[in-house]
Amino acid sequence: MFERRQTRRVMVGNVPVGGGSPVSVQSMTTTKTADVDGTLQQIYSLAAAGADIVRCTCNDIEAAEGLARIVPRSPVPIVADIHFQYKLALAALDAGVDCLRLNPGNIRKPDHIRIVASECRDRAVPVRIGVNAGSLDPDIEERFGMTSEAMVESAKRELGYFDEVGFHDVKISVKASDVRLMVGAYRMLADVIDYPLHLGVTEAGPPPAGIMKATAGIATLLNEGIGDTIRYSLTADPLEEARVGRQLLEALGLRERSGLDLIACPSCGRAEVDVIAVARAAQDALSKANLPVQVAIMGCVVNGPGEAKGADLGIAAGRRRGHLFVRGEVVRVVPEAEMVDVLVEWAERIAEVGVEEALTDKDEAAAAEAEADRAALLDVQGDDATNSEAVVELIRNRT
Ligand code: SF4
Repeated sequence: MFERRQTRRVMVGNVPVGGGSPVSVQSMTTTKTADVDGTLQQIYSLAAAGADIVRCTCNDIEAAEGLARIVPRSPVPIVADIHFQYKLALAALDAGVDCLRLNPGNIRKPDHIRIVASECRDRAVPVRIGVNAGSLDPDIEERFGMTSEAMVESAKRELGYFDEVGFHDVKISVKASDVRLMVGAYRMLADVIDYPLHLGVTEAGPPPAGIMKATAGIATLLNEGIGDTIRYSLTADPLEEARVGRQLLEALGLRERSGLDLIACPSCGRAEVDVIAVARAAQDALSKANLPVQVAIMGCVVNGPGEAKGADLGIAAGRRRGHLFVRGEVVRVVPEAEMVDVLVEWAERIAEVGVEEALTDKDEAAAAEAEADRAALLDVQGDDATNSEAVVELIRNRT
């Protein structure tokens, strides 16, 4: 992992962005902003799913009025998304939003940009300069084509207008639906400015391909230390955007685990149980409780416990029984039908009292029982499931 790039810090409401703060997750509501109750309901669900900051469109005056009612009741800071009409940016500021997102490609009059920037400066409200490859200034696109350079140029031009009025409370995004274009633009920008960067692959599409595409771009940059806040732009329920954003940051070690981390082996000829079905049943049961525990589902007792010994808790199948292990120590051997229920009980216990305390409840006879199952299986299957050693022997005998 690269060191995080040093950036300025911008406060979006009470959420710090940049300057070494935790990378934040953003998403956007899909409701009409004028529908205050519907939008608030979605904002609450997004916050519960892991969004730190939520953006709402401010596309007409009814939306701006909606924001005036939403902002005071929102559990997270609200960003108003502004396109074309600078007066709606001013209305959103009146509504009390915590940040504006301006697209330089469609609010183009320098005077209008300066008016908005001056208002933001006076009210200490930050702005995201949200450049999109698909909506560049025509003259910039003419000069540079639809390239990473063009996106960087667009962001720099907007920054120039902000500079003129002494406004620097800014974060920037240079999004494209083409991952290479987007990665290139962020890398270039990171070399020339120290404003915090909001990462995203725009119009990534529906999952799972959309998640892959967005992850390819966002994770590549985060692993280079670039990026202070992220958004997955998926054609899906926005809760999915918040969940996967959060999961990515947790997987990269950029945020503490807040929920379940389920590890499952891919299964193979050694599997003693339908790993896919057990993993799904465990995921369903454990997701409901959303416990901050790492759980492993392993198909066999021969390799499973060893391979998953780093997990807080795991289960491996063998001879119609489940071996439950905590940080690699077998704590129970139970009938296969009870595997998932016992797993959930132990996950709850670990979440409540921690691993060390939970281990004091272990069945002292379990390790010996588990070893007997393992030895019996090895006796039947041998310890070379892939038969590689026999093949190596055959090759040697030929030469
Ligand atoms: S844990 Fe066992 S069943 Fe799962 S992939 Fe490894 S060897 Fe195969």
